[in-house]
Amino acid sequence: TQTVQPGQFDTRYARELPDTYAQVNPTPLRDPHWVCWNHALAEELSFPAEPDDQMLKACSGAGLYQGTEPIAQKYAGHQFGVWNPDLGDGRGLLLGEWVDPDGEHWDFHLKGAGKTPFSRFGDGRAVLRSSIREFLASEALHALGIPTTRALALVGSDEPVQREVLERGAMLTRVARTHIRFGHFEWFAFSEQTEKLEQLLNYTLKHHYPECLEHDDPTAAFFTEVVDRTATLMAHWMAHGFCHGVMNTDNMSIIGDTFDYGPYAFLDATRPDFICNHTDVQGRYAFNRQPDIALWNLQCLAQALVSHTRQDALKEALQRFAPVYNNHFLHLMGERLGLGEIEADDQELVSEWMQLLAAEERDFHHSFRTLADRPVEAWSELDDDYVDRDRFRKWREALAERLDSEPDQGRSLARARNPVSVLRTHLAQEVIEAAEQGDNAPLHSYLAALQSPFEHREEWRHWGDAPPADYVARPLSCSS
Ligand code: AMP
Ligand code: MG
Ligand code: MG
Repeated sequence: TQTVQPGQFDTRYARELPDTYAQVNPTPLRDPHWVCWNHALAEELSFPAEPDDQMLKACSGAGLYQGTEPIAQKYAGHQFGVWNPDLGDGRGLLLGEWVDPDGEHWDFHLKGAGKTPFSRFGDGRAVLRSSIREFLASEALHALGIPTTRALALVGSDEPVQREVLERGAMLTRVARTHIRFGHFEWFAFSEQTEKLEQLLNYTLKHHYPECLEHDDPTAAFFTEVVDRTATLMAHWMAHGFCHGVMNTDNMSIIGDTFDYGPYAFLDATRPDFICNHTDVQGRYAFNRQPDIALWNLQCLAQALVSHTRQDALKEALQRFAPVYNNHFLHLMGERLGLGEIEADDQELVSEWMQLLAAEERDFHHSFRTLADRPVEAWSELDDDYVDRDRFRKWREALAERLDSEPDQGRSLARARNPVSVLRTHLAQEVIEAAEQGDNAPLHSYLAALQSPFEHREEWRHWGDAPPADYVARPLSCSS
């Protein structure tokens, strides 16, 4: 086997999993210009920090980084519960894996790079609007401590791309530890490519779950870990009010990253049955259905693995989902309220708080942060914000009593867990509209604020605003 030195690109997916993809070169974007470059991420990866002209070419499909060999991965998946064997990278290409100084591999994936054999009816492009939305979300979730793919670079273009309206093309450089999805496993199992399935499993174990190789049954250990990571991810989403919008199995990362940002939205008002995806008429992917859907998706993955392990082991792993999810959710919510450790009665405190926010449709993020910003003795000032002020008063008194044993009554923990700057659909739309007019300054400012979300800064004040009461968001759909 070849070894690639740090500071170079490897192509290990292409090399170790032959005949599972199509080799495709990107289709260059017309007259590209920089929109965003993620200095912090480049530094983390020890990737050349200064984006020059050569880099602009590589980020817009007009050139290739040395050592890369672009491929479109083949996968399948359940979309809105319906099996679709015809999926694959339809507009994104895996260029190769950047090897950092520790020898860690990072997929570089160019999204919007043109047609591939898996494009079906699509044009292979991505538009500026949705690429900005992906950039903002990747960085916002990362800063909140939520596992996610990252965004390194974004280039724009005047190339027209037709969506519901005519928009402009863009290309996003997405970085992740892997782009392997549940749907990769489903595809090889469904098409009865037993040897390929085995290769994919071995590849995933070797590179992403090496600790599982120590077990008697590595496949069972691996699936158990995927269940745990996915349940943990759902706890993060639910504790932060994040709604993904398209939880198809081809959008589920095998390492538990948040993956494929489309019509996502963070909650504004607390509405548990909130649906962010305009196309999702039935509400399959509504906010409060996300944990159940994740479990459903894990069942699809289990089906694909059943020939490689005992069915009982898969069932046992699936039974872990609920307790892992509940524990993690409670822990995260507890921290947002200032509780360093969870005790027996905290479940009730958290659940009453969520019910209160939902009953009054209160702004999800402000409600937490206003508690965090005030000493507990001043919480009575907030009573009038609630229609049912007695209910709020009872709840805050119970929490205050519980916090009595915490050194600063949990305020510093709460301030470190409740963002001041929040990714909001209306604010994203505002910076998108400026960028579409050629002004990227608001985007850069918002991005910086979202990358340090717990910090108060005067110039970022606007990035903490909730939408005006009469704000009507432009519908978000799968088309992006
Ligand atoms: P998504 O809804 O983003 O998960 O995409 C579902 C499938 O459609 C994936 O196989 C994508 O690669 C493909 N796809 C989405 N948009 C396009 C496009 N504009 N051109 C070609 N393929 C696309
Ligand atoms: Mg997708
Ligand atoms: Mg997508």
